[in-house]
Amino acid sequence: MTQVTCSPSRYIQGAGEIRKLGDYCVQLGVKGALAIVDPFILERYKEDITHSFAIHSIPLELSEFQGECSRNQVELIIEGFDPQTVDVILGIGGGKTMDTAKAVGHFASLPVIIVPTVASTDAPCSALAVLYTDDGDFDSYLPLLRNPDMVIADVELIAKAPARLLAAGMGDALSTYYEARACRASGAQTYAGGTGSIAAMSLAKACLETILAYGEEAIRDVRLGDCTPAVEHIVEANIYLSGIGFESGGLAAAHAIHNGLSQLEECRGMLHGEKVAFATLAQLMLEQVADHEIEPVISFCRKVGLPVTLKELGLSGIERNRLILAAEASCSEDSPMQNMPFPVNPAEVLKAILAADRRGTLYTVH
Ligand SMILES: [Zn+2]
Repeated sequence: MTQVTCSPSRYIQGAGEIRKLGDYCVQLGVKGALAIVDPFILERYKEDITHSFAIHSIPLELSEFQGECSRNQVELIIEGFDPQTVDVILGIGGGKTMDTAKAVGHFASLPVIIVPTVASTDAPCSALAVLYTDDGDFDSYLPLLRNPDMVIADVELIAKAPARLLAAGMGDALSTYYEARACRASGAQTYAGGTGSIAAMSLAKACLETILAYGEEAIRDVRLGDCTPAVEHIVEANIYLSGIGFESGGLAAAHAIHNGLSQLEECRGMLHGEKVAFATLAQLMLEQVADHEIEPVISFCRKVGLPVTLKELGLSGIERNRLILAAEASCSEDSPMQNMPFPVNPAEVLKAILAADRRGTLYTVH
């Protein structure tokens, strides 16, 4: 069986990187750049961004991210620049800004530089974008021909984002090892297009070890406004280790259950990684792993403020038939649930969700 490991060509992480974007474009031999930027970031860092291009005399077009990462929006941006003068696309901001840049780069056949300004998911490094309708509903996944050419994480900037976002990134990173392990056991094909590699598995393991070791400290530091080594380690785990781990290690029950839970309007206010954290616990219940493996996961979630009960997911008192809907959705034909090393049906998922809730509730009482 073919195994595939993919990653961005370069992953760069440090303090103040937002002021060096022009330098990195020089390294890529860029002649002119288009940067799609979150309004919030543009307001605060416009000078830093433009200055770094100006000192290298690289023409830079700025496009403030508007509305949604939709096909229309992407087309508008492509129509709005001259391909003769732009040879790289930068996406500077949160998830939808990054995905818009990836989609623009994809359809315009240009290299992409991703500059995440939050570490709330492991999406930045992947060769995948999510498209939405103009109204903000899910449209489709857009598999890209290649991963970003560069991912540049400015830890100083990311440390200024709300602690809840960093915690959510850890929730997304929490599942990576367990899902890669399940895929390895089943021999499932990953997003990278082959079976999981030793490299992806090792990064997934390092990801779990890193968040368990530094997660609590990082959340405390971010709340105090400090960018410390613990914060840097978590940024690397959330964005890079988890990014390679999920894409080349594979997704399984945790993301399948996340997708199921996302069908429920009641937890619309929850972040991706928050749902994934609870769903990871549910996967461990499905797998009936030993207590010594469950305990550190619940304890970690508690310490960094990730949900471990249905109540904390906004699903308190939810009717059983609503939960069954989520369980059924998690077992759909194209769901990553099919990557589990044993067959899983909706009744078993429901049981696992309820078991996870019970474990989480018991732990809360302690
Ligand atoms: Zn995820």
